[in-house]
Amino acid sequence: MSPTPSPDPDLDALRARIRHDLACLSYPDKPWVRPSAAGPEVLNCAIVGGGQFGQSVAFGLQRERVNGVVVFDANPAGLAGPWLTFARMIMLRTPKDLTGPDLGVGSLTFRAFYEARYGAGAWERLFRISRPDWQAYLNWHREVTGLDVRPAHAVTAVSPRADGLFELQVQHEGRTHRSLARTVVLATGAEGSGARVVPPMFRELPPSLYAHTNDAIDFTALAGKRVGILGAGASSFDNASAALEAGAAAAELCFRRPALPLSNPRRWMEFAGFLAHYPELPDLQRWRYMKRLLDISQPPPEPTFRRAVEMPGFKLRPATPWLALRPQAGGVQVDTPEGPLSYDFVIAGTGIVVDLAQRPELAAIAPHVALWGDRFEPPAAEADARLARFPYLDAHGAFTEKTPGAAPWAGRLFANFRGATLSLGPSAASNSNIRYTAPRIVSGITRQLFLSDADAVYDEFMAQQHHELAAQEVSGAGG
Ligand SMILES: Cc1cc2nc3c(=O)[nH]c(=O)nc-3n(C[C@H](O)[C@H](O)[C@H](O)COP(=O)(O)OP(=O)(O)OC[C@H]3O[C@@H](n4cnc5c(N)ncnc54)[C@H](O)[C@@H]3O)c2cc1C
Repeated sequence: MSPTPSPDPDLDALRARIRHDLACLSYPDKPWVRPSAAGPEVLNCAIVGGGQFGQSVAFGLQRERVNGVVVFDANPAGLAGPWLTFARMIMLRTPKDLTGPDLGVGSLTFRAFYEARYGAGAWERLFRISRPDWQAYLNWHREVTGLDVRPAHAVTAVSPRADGLFELQVQHEGRTHRSLARTVVLATGAEGSGARVVPPMFRELPPSLYAHTNDAIDFTALAGKRVGILGAGASSFDNASAALEAGAAAAELCFRRPALPLSNPRRWMEFAGFLAHYPELPDLQRWRYMKRLLDISQPPPEPTFRRAVEMPGFKLRPATPWLALRPQAGGVQVDTPEGPLSYDFVIAGTGIVVDLAQRPELAAIAPHVALWGDRFEPPAAEADARLARFPYLDAHGAFTEKTPGAAPWAGRLFANFRGATLSLGPSAASNSNIRYTAPRIVSGITRQLFLSDADAVYDEFMAQQHHELAAQEVSGAGG
């Protein structure tokens, strides 16, 4: 729960501090990207997805003086990302002192925002960041930096064109318009590189009897009911807690493993060397890190676990895979190896799959970009079909060609969605990693924009006089 805002929040003073800090750090402040030959309306960069990562890349480009950057986000204004939509935990899982969207500007950190809003003492008392506070911070950051973020703009297609530009189809208020861009970043979150996994057995049920943990669920409708959840990831715990807090009679988590995993190597990975340089590791090592993470899964954070287990009606059912689901009078029968279970409503806590072919907006892209399975063959014992489907991105987060020469645009299309994690790091878009991953992608974009204009830049260099001194002064000086 957030504290009561300070009666005299210091956000105006913070705004002035931010302006001053950005002015102190503004060198070199000359806009430098040349307008596209195809017209001034062509964006230098279109960012698809205005969550914490897309917004951070936009801010990074602003600091590198790249103009013509627009962020399109499908969610309504103020609701980018999962925080106030389907995330149901009370507080963030990552530590409170993380830095990220600030990109190294102290006055733009979450801490500066929190202290200005609630007072310095509140920061000392804070254990972890609440979801509403994190969303409020992201919204504040967006506003105070003046980024061009367009909410309720869903990108339905990204297509490379013969002239080297990308064409984006963008839906807004029931109409579709076209936008052209020289570079594109896909910052579309966990589902942006695939889809929710709903095991086929759920399709045996009418839609009113089941949901996925990422769906909008009306928990008040579950008051007095028994809820069964398949899977024991953190989101399953969050959904169980949300159901019980809304008055559900029972919420049971069923999972295949004999016990919950205990260790969370993702927290171990939070050190600068790993976060900064994971993308430079050899392919085999990156594969091994990610395979281990996928194989062992991760436990829920302790507060998430406690919130659930301390509520009457909560139950963990380890070693309880679901074999089949059938509608029965007023609910669902779940077949398990230990016999049937009965629930009024069931939830699939079965996560998200990486599979570019399932993204309609990437239909023109997916067949032409390399996947890890195209580029890397692990030792037979370490093969993993899940990882083989991840896109093979370069060190700047740009796609690479499946067939050399067939997709020359690939290096101008960047991604940091779930599928980027094998290439860029297991937590590449999480707020603990933004400070390393966003500058990588920003540098890939500025590199592309600069190098693609290299001839014109050189011609301009040769045509300029570059006078430092006035000619008359020089001719009479020293005589
Ligand atoms: C329950 C839960 C708890 C989590 N806890 C943490 C945590 O504590 N710390 C942490 O660092 N991470 C946490 N995460 C992971 C978190 O989702 C990511 O770290 C973070 O949201 C990634 O930011 P992002 O900008 O990459 O993606 P997102 O925040 O998911 O934003 C993606 C945005 O892209 C938009 N979008 C998608 N497709 C399109 C399209 N075609 N056109 C236009 N817009 C589109 C979406 O509307 C969305 O706003 C949690 C996730 C969940 C689900």
